[in-house]
Amino acid sequence: MNILLVEDDLELGNGVRIALADQGFNVVWVRRLTEAEHALEVNLTDLVLLDLGLPDGDGLTLLKKLRGELNTLPVLILTARDALHDRLTGLDFGADDYLVKPFALAELLSRIRALARRSFGFEGEAITLRGLVLVEATQRATVDGAAVELSRSEFLLLSTLLKRADRVVTRRTLEEQVLPGGLNNESNVLDVHISNLRKKIGDGYVRTVRGVGYVIDRQVSVAGAKL
Ligand code: CA
Repeated sequence: MNILLVEDDLELGNGVRIALADQGFNVVWVRRLTEAEHALEVNLTDLVLLDLGLPDGDGLTLLKKLRGELNTLPVLILTARDALHDRLTGLDFGADDYLVKPFALAELLSRIRALARRSFGFEGEAITLRGLVLVEATQRATVDGAAVELSRSEFLLLSTLLKRADRVVTRRTLEEQVLPGGLNNESNVLDVHISNLRKKIGDGYVRTVRGVGYVIDRQVSVAGAKL
């Protein structure tokens, strides 16, 4: 899971970064709002840990912007402001959870796990969606209980799309940040992998958003069905 940590306090930021890395999370740590915005554009992010008092502004500005763009990225606010008013403001702006400093790292880790579970169906290391179950630690996938053999690239594509269910992931992101080989991939490599993936897991999961990328819908809507 890729976590963006936005925290200007050096000691705290470093402590959190190390604790998260120890748990196997990929962490990008930034200390300013502008850096956070940039990081969200260039990195694949699954969850944001957001401090509110930052040197170049209020973390709530970023949260408000994300939610204004209908971005459902899970956001956990970390802040020293323990006044009830600030908590409510953060939640009103669409934060998923709130942790008041100082906090124990164990508490932070359990909140992150709970948030991940609520947001994208992580149960331990398994990701579930409709009939699909994916276990990252063992790189195993099952569809309606039956095991399917996925290549490394197929697994990475599927787990990326599952973790962002209901959000479109652009072709560019998948090509440059998910597929091994990154920028060196041939232009049709992604299409080939997606096509193979669909053959293995069935056609009902990965939906093409023409000219943009791909998405896996949490629920299949009747409106989306072909008439
Ligand atoms: Ca701060």
